[in-house]
Order: sequence, then C-alpha cells, then structure tokens
Amino acid sequence: MSENAYVCPYCQSENIQSYNIAYAGGFSNVNGVTTGVGIGAGGRVGVGIGNTVGTQQTALSMMAKPPMKKSIATYVLKWWIAIQFGLVLLLWISGLSKHESSLIIYFGAYALLIYKTYQRYVWNRDTYPGLRRDWEHTYVCLRCGNSFLL
Ligand SMILES: [Zn+2]
Repeated sequence: MSENAYVCPYCQSENIQSYNIAYAGGFSNVNGVTTGVGIGAGGRVGVGIGNTVGTQQTALSMMAKPPMKKSIATYVLKWWIAIQFGLVLLLWISGLSKHESSLIIYFGAYALLIYKTYQRYVWNRDTYPGLRRDWEHTYVCLRCGNSFLL
C-alpha cells in the first residue's frame, strides 16, 4: 500500500476521519440552558428536553450515520394491526353476510405482508452487509468536506 493511501483524493489533505469515528464522536450531552430544537453555532443541531438535559449531535455525525437494517418485528406488528383493523372495517362495511370475500382479502393481505417481510429479510441479508462494509471504509475529509471510500 502506498504511503499516500490515507489522504483525501480531492485535496490531498491528511486530515481525514472515518465515518465510524465521526459518527460516534458527534454526540455530546448538554446541560443547562437549551436553545430548544434548532441549528446553533457551528452547524450543531440541538434537541433539548426541558431546559436541563439533552443530546447534541453534530452535523458531521449526522452525515456519517451508519446504514440501518430494516426492522422486521416492528414492520410485521404494524401491518398486523392494520390488517386487523382493515378486516373489522371491511366486515362492518360489507356486512357479515359477505364473510367469504372478506376472508379472501384478509388472507391476500397476509400473503402480501409475508412477501414484503421476506423482501426486507432478503435486503438485510444481501444488501445491508455491503452498505455497512462501505460505510466502515468511508472517510470524510475535515478540510474540504468530501466523503470517499478508502
Ligand atoms: Zn479534502
């Protein structure tokens, strides 16, 4: 590996930081007077709870946010509830006499949910690791602000 491997390809600065470090290092607890929610000096976005406790995250840290896996459990739960409500609504609108067609829609909705859930599972299995790996090798130049893979 060349001795110039760890420099910014845009401006050749050695003042670069991995996304991993940039992300983790961008949080700080703030105590005392808060400015509420907004962008303050230095591009910091503050989220204040009450006027004493809060967490600040730098803009740099937000930019370096790691890719997230798609949630499975929350997704299933949310849609399961939606389907239950949908069925009740359907039965209420159509009347209980049309129970059979309601059941077909009901099971159709479940089949679709299973399919969509499977797609999320496959994304987590096949696509996410690559994104995560890229993220682990992404650096940000603290001089010119460009991001790049190393
Ligand atoms: Zn640079």
